[in-house]
Amino acid sequence: MTETIVVVGAGQAAAQLAASLRQGGFRGAVRIFGEEPYLPYQRPPLSKKFLAEPARPDVLLLRPESFWHDQDVAIELGTPVAALDLPGSRVVLHDGRAVDYGTLVVATGTRARTLPLPGIALPGVFSVRRIDDVRLLRPALDAASRIVIIGGGYIGLEVAAVMRGEGRDVTVIEAEDRVMKRVTGEIMSSYFERVHRERGVDLRLRTRLTGIEGEQRATGVRLDDGTTLPADLVLVATGARANDDLAAAAGLAAEDGILVDEFARTGTTNVLAIGDCARFPSRRFGRRLRLECVQNAIDQAKAAAAMILGQPAAYDPVPWFWSDQYDIKMQMAGLMDEHDGAALVGDATGGRFSVDYRRDGRLIAVDAVNDGRAHMLGRRRIAEETAPAPVG
Ligand code: FAD
Repeated sequence: MTETIVVVGAGQAAAQLAASLRQGGFRGAVRIFGEEPYLPYQRPPLSKKFLAEPARPDVLLLRPESFWHDQDVAIELGTPVAALDLPGSRVVLHDGRAVDYGTLVVATGTRARTLPLPGIALPGVFSVRRIDDVRLLRPALDAASRIVIIGGGYIGLEVAAVMRGEGRDVTVIEAEDRVMKRVTGEIMSSYFERVHRERGVDLRLRTRLTGIEGEQRATGVRLDDGTTLPADLVLVATGARANDDLAAAAGLAAEDGILVDEFARTGTTNVLAIGDCARFPSRRFGRRLRLECVQNAIDQAKAAAAMILGQPAAYDPVPWFWSDQYDIKMQMAGLMDEHDGAALVGDATGGRFSVDYRRDGRLIAVDAVNDGRAHMLGRRRIAEETAPAPVG
C-alpha cells in the first residue's frame, strides 16, 4: 500500500498511529499536521511533575525528533487544519494549502470546557491542557499565594496537591456532592476529600461559581452561596469537550465525539477518528464510550493502524487510567459508573487499598490506591468478567 495517510492533530494518538503503521510495514507517506508548536508529547505530567518541576518541553516528548526522521514521518507543527474536504479527499490547512489524502485520520483530542460566566476571560484565569498553558500558568503561580481551583476532578486535585506542596493557600470549588464523581465511587471520593482537607485544602462541595471578580485581572470569585473569595489566580478545571467541530462541519456524525465503529472508522470511506475526539461502541460495556486517557489514545490508534494495514481487530478495551496526588498513586481500571455494589478491599486508613465495583455480580471496575498489584489483577479480572459473548 503506498497511499498517503494524513493525520489531523499531533498528539498521543497520532504518534502511536504513525509508529504502528511503520512497524506494520506501511511504506506510503505519513503526514501529520499539528496546531501546537511541539512534537507529540505526553500531557499527564502537565498537572503533575512538569507543573511541580518545570523543565524544558523536550522532556515531555513521546519520541525524539530523530525517531520521526528515521521513520520518514512528516510532522508539520504550528499548522492547524482549517477544513476537511471529504468529497475532494483532501484537507485544507489554515494557510490555504490543500493536501490530498488516501486515508484521513482525525486525532484532534479535546479542549478545556469553559464556563460562560462574567469575568471568565480576565487575565489571571487559567486552564491546563497544553505545554503553553503551563508556560503561562507557572510564573503566575509563582507570584500567587491564594489560588482558587474551579472543579474537583482529577486535574484540579492534582494541581491542588502540587500547590499545597509549595505551601500556597488552595481552595477547590466543586459543584457536585463529592470530588472526582465522574470517574470514581463514593469510597474513593471520601478518601481523597479527607486527604486534601488534612493537607490544608479548603474544599467546598455543592458549591457553584457564579462569576470572577476583578477589573484589570481576576481578584476573586463569587459563589452561589453569596460569598466572595479573594484569589490571586483562578484555575478552571471543569473538564474537556471533544474537538469534533471540523469533523461535524465536514458532515461526519458527532455527539461530543466523532462517531466511529469498533475499527475506528467513521461513516465515510477511508476516514477514521481516534483518541479523545472519538466515540466508539463498546460491546463490553453496552454503550458508546468517549475516553480521555493515554490507554485509549494508544490502543485505539493501534486498532486504526491495523485496520489501515488490512488486519482489522475490533477495539473494545478495559480502560485504565491513573492520577498522582501528593505521594498517592490512584489507578483505575474499567468503568464504575453503572455499578450496583462497591466493596472496599484492604484498609483505607492505611493508605493502600482498592475498591471493587460490580454490576449484576460481575466485576466492572477496580480503583486502587498505592496498590499496583490490585490494579493489574483488576484489569485481568474485569477483562474476563465483562468479555462480550462471541458474535454469531
Ligand atoms: P491530544 O494528545 O490532546 O492531541 C490532540 C492534538 O490535536 C493537540 O495537540 C491539538 O492541538 C491538535 N489539534 C486539534 N485540532 C487541530 C486542528 N484542527 N489541526 C491540527 N491540530 C489540531 N491520561 C491518563 O491516562 N492519565 C493521566 O494521568 C492523565 N493526565 C492528564 C493531565 C492533563 C493536564 C491532561 C490535559 C490530560 C491528561 N490525560 C491523562 C489525558 C491524556 O493526556 C489524553 O487522553 C491523551 O493526550 C489523548 O491523546 P489524543 O492524541 O487523542 O489527544
